[in-house]
Amino acid sequence: MSKVCDIAIVGGGLAGASLAIALAPLGFKVTLIEAVAFKSAHQPSYDDRTLVLSHSSCRILSGMGLWEKLAPDATAVRKIFVTQMDRPGQVVLDPAELGLTEFGHVVEARRFGAAVQKQLQQTENVEVLCPASVTAIEIGEASNVLHLAANKDGESMTLAARLVVAADGANSSIRNHLKIPVQSRDYGQTAVICNVTPELPHQGQSFECLTTSGPFAVLPHTGMRCGLVWSASTQDAAVLMELDDETFLARAGQRFGTALGAFKKIGRRSAYPLKLVRARQDICSRLVILGNAAHAIHPVGAQGFNLALRDVAVLAEILADDGQDDPGEDRLLQQYSRWRKIDQHGTISWSDGMTRLFAHPSVLAAGLRTAGFMAYALLPGLRRQIANKAMGYRGRVPRLALGEPLRFQ
Ligand SMILES: Cc1cc2nc3c(=O)[nH]c(=O)nc-3n(C[C@H](O)[C@H](O)[C@H](O)COP(=O)(O)OP(=O)(O)OC[C@H]3O[C@@H](n4cnc5c(N)ncnc54)[C@H](O)[C@@H]3O)c2cc1C
Repeated sequence: MSKVCDIAIVGGGLAGASLAIALAPLGFKVTLIEAVAFKSAHQPSYDDRTLVLSHSSCRILSGMGLWEKLAPDATAVRKIFVTQMDRPGQVVLDPAELGLTEFGHVVEARRFGAAVQKQLQQTENVEVLCPASVTAIEIGEASNVLHLAANKDGESMTLAARLVVAADGANSSIRNHLKIPVQSRDYGQTAVICNVTPELPHQGQSFECLTTSGPFAVLPHTGMRCGLVWSASTQDAAVLMELDDETFLARAGQRFGTALGAFKKIGRRSAYPLKLVRARQDICSRLVILGNAAHAIHPVGAQGFNLALRDVAVLAEILADDGQDDPGEDRLLQQYSRWRKIDQHGTISWSDGMTRLFAHPSVLAAGLRTAGFMAYALLPGLRRQIANKAMGYRGRVPRLALGEPLRFQ
């Protein structure tokens, strides 16, 4: 069977599905291809992770009509405490310094998947092929052709699209198939994540302790729960994964301290090896590389999906403003790539730089960490500047992130 569409999105994870929803009102015929059922226990994107969605991301999702489905399960981040392991002092970030009531919200990735699926079911112009897997791509002049694996009845399919978006994760098969080079760095760290329930209510407070093996973060979550992200050397993380619940909770409590009392209950633990994978180009002929396929980054500062959502908002805005009928035109893709350079470069360099500065064993690195930390603690102007960037306001900001409609009304 062969089919035709305007825009084919390979990968219906956090980034790909968000793009499909953002593009839905623009009138293009969009096909979203996802290999793993949205509600499957093995869905790699919609799992137990607690995602911090920045202020600008919440606005983007609101403009896409998705926020109202997420809001009942979202927890506002009302204060952030940043500390350094084994060093005195803390930086307290208060959204009031920026005239805001919250920095963003925390949402479980699994809940995000459920909201996305619901929204896609109510959306015209988007056909969802799931479970369906893309095995190859042929680049053409007027369109690119995707080859899909045979379905359970043994039928194979091709799909021609004027624009293909590869949102198929850090190991993107489309990117690999096209031999697009990547920069990659293995941090030798693994994040162990789970939910914990402390004795005291979190009151929207988020805690991040920066250590030489990555952050130890406790994030406010629904009810009394908190999301725990514990980055450790890959060796230590393997040990943490093997501990029984009681010992793990005791160790996590020891590391965290007493700000929320003792940790009482724990959910399922999962482990994520941490790597930087960055495609050396984010566009090629009738193709955009998006999300983890373009830039999978360290979770310090919780920037990965937030960055991808801003990519989504910009691509949707360019296509909305163009008003022509060919979404794969090279000038549009060039415009997208140019626009995204500053934000992508700044966000990726910051998360990579922070991770490496904290991991570095030298005295000089320790001095820089302390000096940076003190400047951050003592200079409200610097704090505001960094907080603004962390909330997604860096470089030219797309309309959706400013709370404006995608199209000029
Ligand atoms: C521990 C941890 C904590 C994090 N916390 C945060 C946070 O707080 N805030 C934040 O902004 N970011 C966070 N991130 C980053 C965030 O998880 C990623 O940015 C996000 O998952 C990227 O989504 P994606 O859709 O690009 O890729 P993925 O999540 O990898 O999804 C790719 C999708 O493509 C599908 N797929 C793959 N190959 C094919 C194929 N050939 N055909 C069809 N479908 C295919 C897969 O099944 C999958 O559904 C965190 C990451 C980690 C590891």
